[in-house]
Amino acid sequence: MTGSTPGSPGPHHRVVIVGAGFGGVALALRLRREGVEDVVVLEREDDLGGTWLVNTYPGCQCDVPSLLYSLSDAPNPEWSRTFAPQPEIEQYLRRVADRFDLRRQIRFGTELLGADWDEAGQRWVVETSAGPLTSDVLVLAAGFLSEPALPDIEGLDGFEGTVFHSARWRHDHDLTGERVAVIGTGASAIQFVPAIQPRVGRLTVFQRTPPWVVPRPDRPFRPWEHWLFARSRVATRLSRARIYWSRELLALVFTRYPGLSRFAARGALAHLADQVPDEGLRARLTPDYELGCKRVLLSNDYLPALGRPNTELVTEPIARVLPHAVVTADGTEYPVDTIILGTGFEATEPPIARRVRAADGRTIREHWGGSMRAYLGTTLAEFPNLFMIIGPNTGLGHSSMIFMIESQANYVVDALKTMTARNLTSVVVDPEVVDRFDQEIQRKLRRTVWSTGCSSWYLDASGRNTTLWPDFTWQYRQRTRRFDADRYRLTRAS
Ligand SMILES: Cc1cc2nc3c(=O)[nH]c(=O)nc-3n(C[C@H](O)[C@H](O)[C@H](O)COP(=O)(O)OP(=O)(O)OC[C@H]3O[C@@H](n4cnc5c(N)ncnc54)[C@H](O)[C@@H]3O)c2cc1C
Repeated sequence: MTGSTPGSPGPHHRVVIVGAGFGGVALALRLRREGVEDVVVLEREDDLGGTWLVNTYPGCQCDVPSLLYSLSDAPNPEWSRTFAPQPEIEQYLRRVADRFDLRRQIRFGTELLGADWDEAGQRWVVETSAGPLTSDVLVLAAGFLSEPALPDIEGLDGFEGTVFHSARWRHDHDLTGERVAVIGTGASAIQFVPAIQPRVGRLTVFQRTPPWVVPRPDRPFRPWEHWLFARSRVATRLSRARIYWSRELLALVFTRYPGLSRFAARGALAHLADQVPDEGLRARLTPDYELGCKRVLLSNDYLPALGRPNTELVTEPIARVLPHAVVTADGTEYPVDTIILGTGFEATEPPIARRVRAADGRTIREHWGGSMRAYLGTTLAEFPNLFMIIGPNTGLGHSSMIFMIESQANYVVDALKTMTARNLTSVVVDPEVVDRFDQEIQRKLRRTVWSTGCSSWYLDASGRNTTLWPDFTWQYRQRTRRFDADRYRLTRAS
């Protein structure tokens, strides 16, 4: 803390980060290593972990192998399985925070309510639920899959049973023997459906579009692997590199040669045929769009769960919800006790964008005008000294988000170094640079599998894909390696 600035509210800090998920923790760790100590992390929850703190639904686990889905600065030789379950990932992040003594920088139970750029003072004036503060630099690591998307279904508010979203799992509510409706068949639903199916009385899964499901190569690590990873950083790095490059091959298919995804589709159809003997059910589970256009899901137990005697797959659209039933468009009523919403997240409408204002008083959302864009998914014209972690078009359909997060952390750290070295009070990206970058991204997206005609959460209301990075991730790493000050308007301290 550098003390209160005269005439300003609250203490002043060099860097304020919003969010203590992988993004906030990775950046705080990098800044610590670079000797930037005056850093505060605001976290509205009472603990760290972000995604892995709040998604506690049964069966929750990562879908990128854990050796890659972990911080490069903090390898973990102890993962129990190749795809770690949620409690392990949450504990891993806690251990990292403890090991590097990051907790003292995190203000838990503190929500960012608003932030305004003060041009005269060349600082961010931040309002939080625990009082005001100011900072030179503001980093938004508030997550792109952190705000549950709730479906707009007539009568849902009047349902008299229990309703909850998968990211707000009601562990106090016993599903044993209940009639349960699951709305949605995305990445979360395919994990919790097989986990709850054996104990519920009746399970009705409402599907809008069938996902492509491929086998999950998940297994426990063997004792010799644990032994090796604990002793050899090289072995861990090699295993990580092998996973990384095999995932980049998928990027080649998804972003350059979408036609090749048909070969992968054959494997997925064989998996479906193996797991679902019933022809009628199989037909309703067969996607009619290119594999990869929507997120490809990994599971060995979701498809068999749908064939169990207590489970029914409904593909007729939901018309409305009655106090004790779900009704489909053909008029069929499905009496249920509990509705679980596996309806995903507000990926293209991040709530934080409504809370951060430029010097002109307009929010990020207003500047975006309905469709997100940012240079390198990280900086925005009109918003000096502001950086986003996992901003627009930095999401991945094939590999670890932590790779992208760490690339952005490199960029932010280098920006701070540049500011210090050149005695700059602010840096703001040129609007033309943002426009050119956005055009390049949208041009590249046109050749990808994500533009082959399906509807998905990757697209915003205007139909633009504002979530995914349309190239190899190593190219993103290269482009974020150095802060390219020549693309920014720089203000020097007088
Ligand atoms: C169920 C699930 C499974 C996933 N599995 C994978 C996977 O296998 N591989 C992969 O690469 N990615 C996966 N993801 C994506 C995942 O979100 C990212 O990998 C990563 O965890 C994002 O980290 P983050 O820090 O950017 O965001 P988050 O983890 O969402 O953290 C954001 C934090 O910001 C806080 N916050 C938000 N707004 C405010 C505010 N106004 N004030 C204060 N604090 C605030 C939130 O409380 C939260 O703690 C998954 C996502 C979900 C939902």
